[in-house]
Amino acid sequence: MPAFIDKAYIENTLAGAQNASDAEITRILDKAERFEGLTHKEVAVLLNLRDEKHTARMFEIAHKIKQHIYGNRIVLFAPLYVSDFCVNGCKYCGYNCTHGFERRRLSMDEVRAEVRQLESMGHKRLALEAGEDDLNCPLSYILDVIKTIYDMKFENGEIRRVNVNIAATSEENYKRLHEAGIGTYILFQETYHEPTYREMHVSGPKADYEYHTTAFDRAMRAGIDDVGAGVLFGLYDPKFEVLGLMLHNEHLEKEFGVGFHTISVPRIRRAKGAVQTEYPYSVDDETFKKLVAVIRLAVPFTGMIISTRESLTMRKELIRLGISQMSGGSSVEVGGYTAAKGGSGQFEVADGREASDVVGWIMDEGMTPSFCTACYRSGRTGDRFMSLAKTGNIKNVCLPNALMTLQEYAMDYGDEEFRKKAAETIRRELPGILSDKIRVKTAGNIERIKNGERDLYI
Ligand code: SF4
Ligand code: SF4
Repeated sequence: MPAFIDKAYIENTLAGAQNASDAEITRILDKAERFEGLTHKEVAVLLNLRDEKHTARMFEIAHKIKQHIYGNRIVLFAPLYVSDFCVNGCKYCGYNCTHGFERRRLSMDEVRAEVRQLESMGHKRLALEAGEDDLNCPLSYILDVIKTIYDMKFENGEIRRVNVNIAATSEENYKRLHEAGIGTYILFQETYHEPTYREMHVSGPKADYEYHTTAFDRAMRAGIDDVGAGVLFGLYDPKFEVLGLMLHNEHLEKEFGVGFHTISVPRIRRAKGAVQTEYPYSVDDETFKKLVAVIRLAVPFTGMIISTRESLTMRKELIRLGISQMSGGSSVEVGGYTAAKGGSGQFEVADGREASDVVGWIMDEGMTPSFCTACYRSGRTGDRFMSLAKTGNIKNVCLPNALMTLQEYAMDYGDEEFRKKAAETIRRELPGILSDKIRVKTAGNIERIKNGERDLYI
């Protein structure tokens, strides 16, 4: 077990936080309200809130943080599954090696076809997904896919950021991924509880808890400074998992000066071919909202992501509590964007709407969809991103970029009704840009985009 995740310590911390006084809880909530973030011990207290009054205040603060730091924006992305070959026996996953189905990996022509389809939906930011199989899906293949995607140019631009979600690997391999220009390296811990981890990961390289849990250390040593974490809620006690996330984050901050760039919050869902079908730790909606709110208070500058695993109703509520990124129009099958649906996905999707419907819906909800990828392309990654975020300057950057990318989307993918909606959103949000200079520049850039220019950002 890596030193930063100590099972007994987590259990004791959670137990010791159960009887925090009213004054202590108020102190912690006040601190969170000042956007100062929380220590793992303070998080343990919030995970044990029982008084409705405190919970209600926690939700209010989560909403306040969301509005203050992320405003009305929701950044959109799409997953791209390139290979479902997998040598691991993760019991909860439809791709586990005991599930007999015809596996495949995309040829480069198929990758191009999928990316063309995704680009025609307006996506600029992808999350590349693949199972673990060195023989059928070696790193050289993943690097080829990344290059293929970045080399593609379309009439309306290109895919501008490829985040990568592949198995834990060596420092040497992370260096190669870094050199390929990936965005965030995403790896879900699934569970920080080692006995559960061992029970769920019965075979394959991923069964090595230590190697998996220390993957971000190797990635960061290799130069990747944007890493995206997550646990699969439902495998074990969610309080334990959130504290595990916090300790992991603190470890990276201490060792490398920067913690998680994003945290994903997937909840377990049924999957065709999964070995395990019952989950005693399944998280209900009310508990889930509390977990999202606690994380929002604890790490206010870390992006929070939900996937299409969540229903429309839950997505609506979670956005208000801190979610800043979501996928839209997603397929969780290899080749799923160009083929008829109904093949073997990694899990079942709850929100099956088209991307354009999701984008329109975000605006109907009074929010601003964003296709921004500016930070990564301006070299604002890792601690450079965090210092920008912490000084509050992100507001003068994210909102202008969201509005410019929305204008681009409206011009390139929207019909007349959509353009009207986008124009209303832009009119409403533009005054929210605090700096006069940047507001004027953004308005000017929006006109330039209307006149045919593309890819303008701050
Ligand atoms: Fe393979 Fe990932 Fe599924 Fe595990 S979770 S079986 S590693 S695809
Ligand atoms: Fe994300 Fe940076 Fe764009 Fe803001 S400006 S939405 S932080 S990429």
